Order: sequence, then structure tokens, then C-alpha cells
Amino acid sequence: MHLNPYGEYAVLLAASLANDWPGDRAAIVARTRDVGMTMGFPEAPDDHPRTRRVIDDWLTVVDAIDPKHRARLLNAQMAAATAYPRLTDHDDEGWHLHYRDEEQSLPDVLRAVISVGTALHLTTRGMHRLRRCAAGQVPGDPCSAVVVDITRNGRQRYCSVRCANRAAVRRHRARTEPGR
Ligand SMILES: [Zn+2]
Ligand SMILES: [Zn+2]
Repeated sequence: MHLNPYGEYAVLLAASLANDWPGDRAAIVARTRDVGMTMGFPEAPDDHPRTRRVIDDWLTVVDAIDPKHRARLLNAQMAAATAYPRLTDHDDEGWHLHYRDEEQSLPDVLRAVISVGTALHLTTRGMHRLRRCAAGQVPGDPCSAVVVDITRNGRQRYCSVRCANRAAVRRHRARTEPGR
């Protein structure tokens, strides 16, 4: 379990948990496997609600649009979660960096991996490349999904084709229907 140079998998994992919250601990662990994390975690009865708190804290970073505010929140989360980086070679993964102590709980590992991964993503790709879906910015629209922008041009605004289409239809109506 490690961070690639862009922190991509960790920030995508955070968005996946935020956008489709798993019903139990096993489903959270399954999600970590989906993104390539291989380590086992010591089990604790409150892993599920504590991981929810990790995601809720991360969502404050998503909703902080101003880069300085965003950096301040993320710095606080990294300070709480991470240890000094260390080289490790567990599970035949090849040498890589961990940003946390060994033998940590599932939520503690996720807090470290997600905060550092998000910081790497924002500093390498751009501080603006994390947001809520633009379709949901219109009052009454149901979408509150998080968009992690890993596109080449850095202009992704919608979480899905469906949301992009809905926004396009709204723009079209606004242009063509008088009085709107
Ligand atoms: Zn690892
Ligand atoms: Zn959306």
C-alpha cells in the first residue's frame, strides 16, 4: 500500500467513499482492495463510523475553494495523521514510501493516505482540481458528488455524462425560453 507520485489512487478512493458510502467495514476494505491497497488492518469495532469521520473531514477540504483555506485544512489533517515517511518492502510490492506508523487502524491509515494523496494530487496537478460536481451547484439539483479532476486539460466540472447533459439542457432552456 503506497502512494504513487500523483497521489491519484488515494484521492480517487476518498471520492469513491464519499460518493458511494459503504454499508459496513468489509465494504470499505473491499474498496481499498479495488484501488490496489494490499495490507491487512487490525480490526476495531468502531472502524466504520471512524472512517466516516475521515471522509467528512476530507469533504471540508473539497468544499474549501480558496487555495489558502484548502491548504490550511489539509495541513491540519496531515499533521494529525501522518508520521515521518519511511521506506518499506512488504508483500513483495517493491520498495515504496509509507507516511504513517506501522500497525495502524483502518481509519488512521486512510486518514494518512488520503490527506497525503490529496496534497500530492493538488500540488502536482493543480490546487483547483478537486470540487463538487458543477451540476449540483444549481439550487434544487440533487448531485453532491465529488469530482477529482485527473484529466489532461484540467477542466472537468461534472461527475458524470448524465450530470453534464442535465446542465447542458438547463443552459439550452435558459437561452431559448423567454422569461427564464
Ligand atoms: Zn505499502
Ligand atoms: Zn454530478
